[in-house]
Amino acid sequence: MDIISHGLWGGIAFGRKSRKSFWLSFAIGISPDIFSFGVFWLATFFGISQRPDWKHGPPDISLIPGYVGNLYNITHSLIIFALVFTILWIIFKRPVWEIGAWGLHVLVDVFSHSYRFFPTPFLWPVSDFKINAIGWGDPRIFFPNLILLFILYSWFFIAKMRERKKWTKNKY
Ligand SMILES: [Zn+2]
Repeated sequence: MDIISHGLWGGIAFGRKSRKSFWLSFAIGISPDIFSFGVFWLATFFGISQRPDWKHGPPDISLIPGYVGNLYNITHSLIIFALVFTILWIIFKRPVWEIGAWGLHVLVDVFSHSYRFFPTPFLWPVSDFKINAIGWGDPRIFFPNLILLFILYSWFFIAKMRERKKWTKNKY
């Protein structure tokens, strides 16, 4: 999925408690792509890696340096996510739910990437089984995603407004 959608999904799923929790979930929701493709983008910006041609859709996979694939394995694995989630649970003595936005990012990617470009290595390093889904640029995924996000956020803001109204009414 595109990076903004990932942030919005993370925020609505795990950050409804407060503004701080929302932005934390948003940031965690986009981080798997920041720490893989974001790193690659920076490397091309500083001329360390060569920028492939994106004009005609995703470039040939052979043009993407190996380290991007390695970072993608780590950031897009449900096993690594579960491990970090458990470790943080032990450290903080409670589940840090905002981290769930990472797991959700991987799940969403599993069903919105095809074999053509970075299918999700969600079982890495145990297995390299991947699902050949429809890429998120396809209208069959792209538009339903936008509509679903729009509905969820409308519901969220309406519920928030109602809550606030009730609160002010009770106060006076
Ligand atoms: Zn991703």
